[in-house]
Amino acid sequence: MERASGPPLRGGIDLGGTKIEAIVVDAGHEVLGSSRHPTPSTGGPEAVAAELVAAIKDACEGAGAEPAALQGVGVGSPGVVDEATGAVSTARNLPDWEGSFELGATLSRELGTPVFVGNDVQVATDAEFALGAGRPYGSLLGVMWGTGVGGGIILDQKPWLGRGGAGEIGHVVVKIDGRRCPCGRRGCMEAYAGRAAMEARARQRVEKGEKTDLFKLMKDRGRTKLTSAVWAKALDRGDKLATELLDEAVEALGAGIASAQNLLEVEAIVIGGGLGVRLGEPFVRRIRKAMMPHTFNDAHPPDVLLAGLGDLGGALGAALLVSRRLEGEPAPVAVASSGGGAASAGDAPVGDAGSGGDGAETASTPAAGDSAPAGEAPGAEDVPSAL
Ligand SMILES: [Zn+2]
Repeated sequence: MERASGPPLRGGIDLGGTKIEAIVVDAGHEVLGSSRHPTPSTGGPEAVAAELVAAIKDACEGAGAEPAALQGVGVGSPGVVDEATGAVSTARNLPDWEGSFELGATLSRELGTPVFVGNDVQVATDAEFALGAGRPYGSLLGVMWGTGVGGGIILDQKPWLGRGGAGEIGHVVVKIDGRRCPCGRRGCMEAYAGRAAMEARARQRVEKGEKTDLFKLMKDRGRTKLTSAVWAKALDRGDKLATELLDEAVEALGAGIASAQNLLEVEAIVIGGGLGVRLGEPFVRRIRKAMMPHTFNDAHPPDVLLAGLGDLGGALGAALLVSRRLEGEPAPVAVASSGGGAASAGDAPVGDAGSGGDGAETASTPAAGDSAPAGEAPGAEDVPSAL
């Protein structure tokens, strides 16, 4: 490759609860370098940011490029992402991530290239839409089944972000007053299908004396969490508890996804995420079947497909975010981005400084100042089950 003429390389980082996947791709989305780092479990956002920098530098090395020579780096992050500023808040699956952190600006400073931050599930869905299993469709729902269960929505060829928080399919209610979800509410789909919730459930049942190989398999692999691979292995061995919990997960996914489908009527549903990809086609078939009793338009159900990009979908989607932004597609309106045009404070190396007047439309919600995760009374015991 002709480095002299500066091939247009982009970086993409998928920031997950357990691992960081970084890649460098060329204009044809070919992966030229990649690296995988564990997500730090202590040290808060600063530690995570430092690890992201290390991961993309490794990927750059593999690609024979300097980070500063990249057109930009995209990051798919959990939590609420302000795409206009690159700030991330309420990232529950990341350690000690309190309040809002200027992830994009921090990385951009370290790497010397523009950094664009998007929601991890949304960018993974976008990758499936543009490059993966979703290519034939104009509307789709991406369901990323992993630590939690995230959803990404594409309607009429465009991402639908709502006011910034759309797609939370994991918190569709599948049982009134049901099991407690990691989000603090009750009866969410994720309370039954999310890997973290399933692990918590497995631990409870082991404490009550049930037998399972899950935690032995975990230790054998030197893990401290029940990874997707551990679940898959336990299932292969016919482990009773693992089988039962995964059966419940499939039922919950069927009900939750079908409910979303009843509302959206998309053409296709793409199942990805760590567990989705690991358990693969047989589970996609099971989810499709579990949806049927709840699908209103059952004469014309959507296509339900396995993600086509495997583990790399998140990172590819993050890299795609760079070209989307550089091609001038405006940052989707993010909630509470404290009013109007680009970058209030002078500290916004994220994206093109110029980025023209698309800010005018930015719905300035009254909730100004995005410091607000505290406003949610997380402990509230009495979740009113409004009926
Ligand atoms: Zn929930």
